[in-house]
Amino acid sequence: MKSNIFICHDLRFHARALAFLAALAMTSYSSPAQTNAAPAERIEGYKEHLIAGSKWYQHDPDRPQPPVVTPGATFSQTAPPPSDAEVLFDGKDLSKWQNGRGGPASWKVQDGYTEVTAPGDIRTKGKWSDFQLHIEFSEPPPGNNHGQARGNSGILINNMYEVQVVDSYHDKTYPDGQAGALYGQMPPLVNPAKPPGEWQTYDIIWESPRWNATNELVQKACITVLFNGVVVQHRTEFIGSTDGIGGGVNYRGVAKYTRHDPEVFVELQNHAGNTVRYRNIWVRDLNVAGRQ
Ligand code: MG
Repeated sequence: MKSNIFICHDLRFHARALAFLAALAMTSYSSPAQTNAAPAERIEGYKEHLIAGSKWYQHDPDRPQPPVVTPGATFSQTAPPPSDAEVLFDGKDLSKWQNGRGGPASWKVQDGYTEVTAPGDIRTKGKWSDFQLHIEFSEPPPGNNHGQARGNSGILINNMYEVQVVDSYHDKTYPDGQAGALYGQMPPLVNPAKPPGEWQTYDIIWESPRWNATNELVQKACITVLFNGVVVQHRTEFIGSTDGIGGGVNYRGVAKYTRHDPEVFVELQNHAGNTVRYRNIWVRDLNVAGRQ
């Protein structure tokens, strides 16, 4: 009996101790920890313009987040170019690239990669109408950055149509702005992002828009994207030039088409100096027009 009372007291002591520890844990969690955790879940975005043909707004933070998929360890990573490919960057120099004014591309090149460097974007000297593009990228350490500030760059076709490059590993932004999105227009089907510092791949199939002799748009720009070997865009049509790059549509403006030649260049975006790295870039001309 005495021992039972002792146990009972002992349990009450433990219950009080546990309650105290729980309260202490909640106190410490609810102040600095909660402050640190909140920004990652507060999804940035806007609800200004409905996207044409969609129920979602451009940069809509409430659009469903694409499901996370763990990609295979490798897919086309370090893939050697096929014999009919043009190598755009083999890790040694940027002689196939230029800056936006036609001057030399001045991004840093070392250890087989090039890294986003001031002052701006770089673009290919070559142009192609319809092409297959292989490109690899690696995201910088994220630090405390989230969303669009986290390793942002992009594949800007003709400086008009962006396939977003950003660090979407364990981080959220508006879905039409995450990695593999047609920026401001269409989220990726899924999110197969790898951690920052790991090499990732985009294998892109691009079909240029076409206009007829009377300036009617007869074929929209169309793109297929495999991200780390996972299809994230399947013949998705751009609804016009991407907002906020060079295609004549201001950031958060409504996408629209502006006529241009079918031959387009590939541009890599310097977004606020985020030090994204690129390597092993090659292109194959699909010569679609030549087969018709
Ligand atoms: Mg970008």
